[in-house]
Amino acid sequence: MKNRDSSKPTLMPIDNALSEMLQQCDALLERESISVLDALDRITAEAIFAKLQVPPKNNSAMDGFAFHVNQELPADTKLIIQGQALAGNPFNEEVKAGHCVRITTGAILPPGTNTVMMQENVQINENNIVLNQASKAGNSVRLAGEDIQLGQQVIAAGEKLTPAHMALLASIGEPTVWVIRRPKVAIVVTGDELVPPGKKLENGQIYESNRFALQGLLQQLNVEIQHYGIVEDAPKKIVDVLLDASENADLILSCGGVSVGDADYVKQVLAKIGQINFWKVAIKPGKPFAFGTINNAIFCGLPGNPVSSYVTFQKLVTPLLHKLMGRSPLEVHTINATCAEPIYKRAGRADFQRGIAYQDEYGEYWVKPNGSQGSGIMSSIANANCYILLEKEQTNLPKGAKTKIELF
Ligand code: AMP
Ligand code: MG
Repeated sequence: MKNRDSSKPTLMPIDNALSEMLQQCDALLERESISVLDALDRITAEAIFAKLQVPPKNNSAMDGFAFHVNQELPADTKLIIQGQALAGNPFNEEVKAGHCVRITTGAILPPGTNTVMMQENVQINENNIVLNQASKAGNSVRLAGEDIQLGQQVIAAGEKLTPAHMALLASIGEPTVWVIRRPKVAIVVTGDELVPPGKKLENGQIYESNRFALQGLLQQLNVEIQHYGIVEDAPKKIVDVLLDASENADLILSCGGVSVGDADYVKQVLAKIGQINFWKVAIKPGKPFAFGTINNAIFCGLPGNPVSSYVTFQKLVTPLLHKLMGRSPLEVHTINATCAEPIYKRAGRADFQRGIAYQDEYGEYWVKPNGSQGSGIMSSIANANCYILLEKEQTNLPKGAKTKIELF
């Protein structure tokens, strides 16, 4: 992380905030070789090339009979059964003219054959078969290398491994794969009012919930999560925990206390023990969002309001983690929709309203805000199916206006 010595109290446009964040941190360099069985959702550290073609040899796509065809063999051709080829147990003799070999799916084509007829299409006698239909050269044969060619790039660097990738790696004979080390992400929540679920609530207390959303969001990214519990609104306590986290984590996420209230100490603590790059972003819900460093750790101070912390995580922290993990940049897929209801918006901040989108009989998308857009209304996200994306200077949109949405 490259430190920079500025603290900017201005409201920063989200794109500038994001590009500054991405500029300030580099992808993790440490890589590890792990079993392909453990590779789901890990990020490839290098491109992977096939040291083997797949399939390795020409083989049968059917259970049936293999023989040689010049161009076409007519129906009613009679062929003498010379032997049997099983998957994993090849028939190695040259197959003679006018002969065939009984073959199973996946068995290597015996020498001298180039075609397979499925057994349902032949009449099988004691030591010969008769074709029920004509057979063209090459029918029902899987060619060597038709799936993957020798030397071909099978998976790019920076790719998140899927179950299909795991199978591809195994099919080219790789038991292990080089992946980027998982970033260690510390979660620190602050607030005197916060109580973990399972404990009794006293007057004025609420259940701490943001950590649970962050846990889920981070699990989706497959990072190593470190929990630092609920920290009191006391600068000394916050200092201790953040310094501790900075020793262990690549990225520290704090939550709450980052605004300008009387009990908001995170920013002042960050200024004391680390660096603040910026702490206000023109995003709604959000706005107070601090970015900086503490020792070698990157620091993101998320707002405490549940919807704000969720949205700022998705819009600012997720792209940052993509970069840290060496992944290709996060792509946001937007689609056009028509407002089914008026949408209220003041100029000044990019707004990510929680919406309900649906398609009409012509396949066109319509969207309406999902009830209250308050930054504490977590059910507005839980029951929504999209963000309504409203740019910084956008104002109210009437019913029937066009807008962009991002489906969840
Ligand atoms: P703060 O950013 O600390 O001023 O908090 C803003 C609002 O979010 C307050 O109503 C807090 O009670 C609430 N809040 C802060 N942190 C959490 C959390 N971890 N879980 C649930 N609510 C929170
Ligand atoms: Mg607080």
